[in-house]
Parts: sequence; structure tokens; C-alpha cells
Amino acid sequence: MALGPRAVYYRAMGSNSTRLRFRDLKPPKEGSKITFKDGYPVVPDQPIVPFIEGDGIGKDVWPAAQRVFDAAVEKAYGGRRRVHWLEIFAGDKAQTRYNSYLPDDTLEAIKTYGCAIKGPLSTPVGGGIRSLNVTLRQTLDLYSCVRPIHYSYGAPSPMQHPEDCNFVIFRENTEDLYAGIEFAAESPEAKKLIAFVNELLAKDPSARGKKVDELAAVGIKPMSRFRSQRNMRRALQYAVTHGIRDVCIVHKGNIMKFTEGGFREWCYEVALAEFRDKVVTEDELYKQHGGVLPAGRVLVKDRIADNAFQQILLYPKKYYILVCTNVIGDLLSDAAAAQIGGLGIAPGANIGDAAAVFEATHGTAPDIAGKDLANPSAVIFSGAMMFEYFGWLEARDLIHRGVEKAVRARTVTADFASQLQGATKLSTREFAQAVIGHM
Ligand code: NAD
Repeated sequence: MALGPRAVYYRAMGSNSTRLRFRDLKPPKEGSKITFKDGYPVVPDQPIVPFIEGDGIGKDVWPAAQRVFDAAVEKAYGGRRRVHWLEIFAGDKAQTRYNSYLPDDTLEAIKTYGCAIKGPLSTPVGGGIRSLNVTLRQTLDLYSCVRPIHYSYGAPSPMQHPEDCNFVIFRENTEDLYAGIEFAAESPEAKKLIAFVNELLAKDPSARGKKVDELAAVGIKPMSRFRSQRNMRRALQYAVTHGIRDVCIVHKGNIMKFTEGGFREWCYEVALAEFRDKVVTEDELYKQHGGVLPAGRVLVKDRIADNAFQQILLYPKKYYILVCTNVIGDLLSDAAAAQIGGLGIAPGANIGDAAAVFEATHGTAPDIAGKDLANPSAVIFSGAMMFEYFGWLEARDLIHRGVEKAVRARTVTADFASQLQGATKLSTREFAQAVIGHM
């Protein structure tokens, strides 16, 4: 089975001891923490891994996925390796228990153990609390959101050839409009900021009389060289490590010259400054290499975002790694997930230099929560990504094999059963059991 690019995020194995500084959490007695070297994890054979069950369907999909993870590790390593799980809390469960949607212990546990895996968390639209997912990413500086888009089994898809989709999206995860700097319409803060911006615009001849409406809501879109480049660097390292020959920068630099345009420029900058002997730009490809990519080189190109959306639909085979700004990457990765069967199966990882959080990319699906109906594949594949990050490739492969065989046998959850002829509809729990049975 084609699994797409082999990811090896780890550097070496080792063990260590853990000093505990939690208010309420009681970590397992056995197991030790993951440490980091040069931004990559050093994973012991028996790591402690914190997990957040999640809101809504989290209570359905997490326990099912956890059984799959334990079965895969047991089958692959027969007791030599084992995950010691530690439940940590966020979202509704945390609010009920600690009167906080994101208790300090949760952040402390992820920092301490270097890794966590989570189910979905609900976020109110408009007012209310800030997105917990965004807070986790920013607080822990998880700067790359990695979303693999691989189609390798018979999931229902709107594409004629979903198997042509085999790419990985590296999305900048900490700035852009998602940095959360916003002021409500007509608030004193918004009015003050607008007055200041209008003063600057009045002095700028290129603004040509442009003015912000005084009653507008405003958001700030910060984008920096450092943050853009560390995401690009991780994507390039991934390409070089896995022999992937194409990295495409996706941006909207034609309209937002300094933010999106800056992102494009800074991404090229890091490619040429740090990977000069390993990369060829599209310009160089035609001017110096007659349109033929030299052996062992990575092509670095860029596409404007609107074009990128149609490219991955029309010519998915031409794309391998897409490096995106935060907002565009968010939209592009969900659109791409739809091409391979939807959010119910799309995994994701938020990776920084000292921690990583793996997560299903779908939401809390309140319409089916608590009914044992949800598809647990996205959390299951997020766990497979986590094992890949650990360097536990055998466990990852068992998980992929189990899901593939279960789907090919048409023993699937309701979302797939309604789209696959002759399918047997399974509950969340039964599907996980089927996956384990097929490993
Ligand atoms: P959603 O992903 O929860 O649901 C969209 C549709 O997909 C629904 O019909 C749902 O039933 C279906 N669906 C989703 N996951 C499924 C699964 N595993 N199996 C079967 N069907 C599934 O998106 P939404 O309704 O826009 O958001 C609901 C809540 O989730 C919101 O509060 C939102 O902020 C939050 N959310 C959280 C995350 C996250 O934690 N990473 C991501 C997206 C949305």
C-alpha cells in the first residue's frame, strides 16, 4: 500500500526522568518524557503521552482510537514499546472539572512530555472564548501545521482519481489573521486604531485617498520573516529527508504585497540561503536546466492561492509539498481533505521545536455526538502521524493497513456507509475493532 512520503521526524532514541509540577494531574508511575534535539524529538521506548478526549464526538472517537493505538504498538513491538497515556483536560470537560476551558496543568503537561494528541474542541463563533486550538498552537509555539493529504484506500471521494492526491501541506500556524488581534466594530480600541491607520494613510501618497470606515471591526495580519521561514525550513527539511522533489509556496502576494508577498519572498530566501545546493527555482529550471529538474534537487516554485485551489483539483499529481500562510493553509487543507474523503479521515499535526500536538481536523460534530456513530479515522490517522514522528514506523504501518482493509471490506461507519454500495454500517466502537482485526 502506498503511504506517501515516509516521514522520519525523529533523530535518536533515549530515556530520561521526569520531574512533576502539576496541581491536579496524576501522571502514570511508569514511562518517561520525550525530549528534543535541534527541534526533533528523542523518544523513549515507553513515553508518557498526554491526551485530550475532546468535546462532542471526542467521547466517541477518542476511546475507539486509543484501543487501535495500543493494539498497533503491542502487535508491532510486543511490550518492548508502550505508550503510557495521561488524560489532560481542555474544552467542556475541563470547564466542568476545573472551571477553566484550558487549565494550566494541560499546557504544563504538553510542555513537560513534549507531545499530546487530541480530539476536537468546540469554539463559539463571534463572542465567547478564543479558539482553544489556536491558543494551544500559539502558547506552545507549534509553528507548523502539517496536514498530509494521501489517498490510499477505497474511501468515498468526489474525485475521479483521488489516488492522485498525495501531498503534504505545511501551514504557518502562529501569525497572520489567526494571531487573534481583533477589535470589535465601534469599540473604543477599534476607533483608536482606525484613527491612527487613517492618519498614516493620509500621509501615504500610494494610498490614493484610501480610508478605513470608522465603524468597522478591525483585525491585524502580522507576518514575519522569522516565523515564515521556520515553517518553510521544516517543509524543506522534510522534502530533502524524503526525497520529495517539489515544494510550492502558496500565497496571495499579488493583493497583499507586504504580508503575503513578504511570505513568498522570505520562503524563497530560506530556500536559497540554507538549501542552495539542494534546490532549483522554477525560473532556474527553465533558464539553466532546460526544464528538466537535475537529479537530487527539489524544485521550489510558488502559486497564487486562488490558482492553487484549482491546481490541486485539476492537477493534483503536480503537487507534493505546499507551504502556506495561516489563513490560506486553513482553507486549502480542508478543501484538499474533501478530495480524499472529507474531514472525517483527515489527520493533522501541530509541530514546534519543543512540542507537538496531533489532532483530528474535524470539529465536534454536535449532530452525532454521543451516539457511537462518528468515524474515528481522523484521530486514528493522527495517531499514525504521531507514531511516525516517534519513528515507530511499524505501528504506523499497522494502523494504515488496518483502516485500509476495514474500508476495502466495506465495514465502515455511517458517513462512509451512505456513500459505498453494499457497505456494512458499523458503530464507532465496532469500526475500531474491525481495524484492529485487520492489522
Ligand atoms: P464539524 O467538523 O464538527 O462537522 C461538520 C459536519 O461533518 C457535520 O455534519 C458532522 O456530523 C460531520 N462530521 C465531522 N466529523 C465527523 C466524523 N468524525 N464522523 C462523521 N461525521 C463527521 O464542523 P462544524 O459543525 O463546523 O463545527 C462544530 C464545532 O467544532 C465548532 O464549535 C467548531 O469551532 C469546532 N471545530 C473544532 C475543530 C478542532 O478542534 N480541531 C476543528 C473544526 C471545528
